[in-house]
Amino acid sequence: MLLAYEEFTRRTDAIRAQIAAACIGARRDPATVELLAVTKTHPAGAVDHAARYGLRGVGENRVQEGVEKRAQTTTAIRWELIGHLQSNKAKLAARHFDRVQSVDSAKLLAHLDRAAAECGKTLPVLLQINAGDDPAKFGADLTDAPALLEAALALKALRVDGLMTIAPLGATPAETTAHAERTFANLRTLRDDLAARFATPLPELSMGMTGDLAIAVAAGSTMVRVGTALFGSR
Ligand SMILES: *Cc1c(COP(=O)(O)O)cnc(C)c1O
Repeated sequence: MLLAYEEFTRRTDAIRAQIAAACIGARRDPATVELLAVTKTHPAGAVDHAARYGLRGVGENRVQEGVEKRAQTTTAIRWELIGHLQSNKAKLAARHFDRVQSVDSAKLLAHLDRAAAECGKTLPVLLQINAGDDPAKFGADLTDAPALLEAALALKALRVDGLMTIAPLGATPAETTAHAERTFANLRTLRDDLAARFATPLPELSMGMTGDLAIAVAAGSTMVRVGTALFGSR
């Protein structure tokens, strides 16, 4: 079910106000934090809503769903893959997405590079890091990140824009907050270390969702990924 555009604008205004408030608290310019509309499980009309509002990108977590949805709309917007990607779907992902945020292994990097080269394109990617040491989450371990970046930088058809992470949930709200603070600080520190060590800017820090976006903004997030708060429950 697609919500009415007016309802979507109310919800999006409210999230943008939260981002703006977090930016004021962190002495940051709100223009430096993008709101990525997560349209997974919602129809192509959700993508049209996002574009009409002026959002610049949408996030999908399944390759096949994103490919089908993209074929159903002519809306010009950036399509980002934010869900786990298996190497056997790398070809499809490279062809139909504008950026892949969930790159977490050297094997996947190699598959994406080959696929992007076959398409004749340079594919932007983010390296997904399990910065909160969550056993339930995908993403490369913090200690494996330098080797992963080194591998990525050697590939001609990929461009590494930065890093992405998802904070683990805690058993209580206070624990969830503590996990988010630790996870986002880890990712920020890792980005700063890698950028210096490899002399590459890594400008994008994709971190923060509805419940923890203020913590993410304080830690330097450049992109918060929000679905339910914009489009309703799945
Ligand atoms: C689904 C998803 C989101 C958004 O989650 P909501 O709870 O719908 O806001 C953000 N990031 C990733 C990686 C996701 O898969």
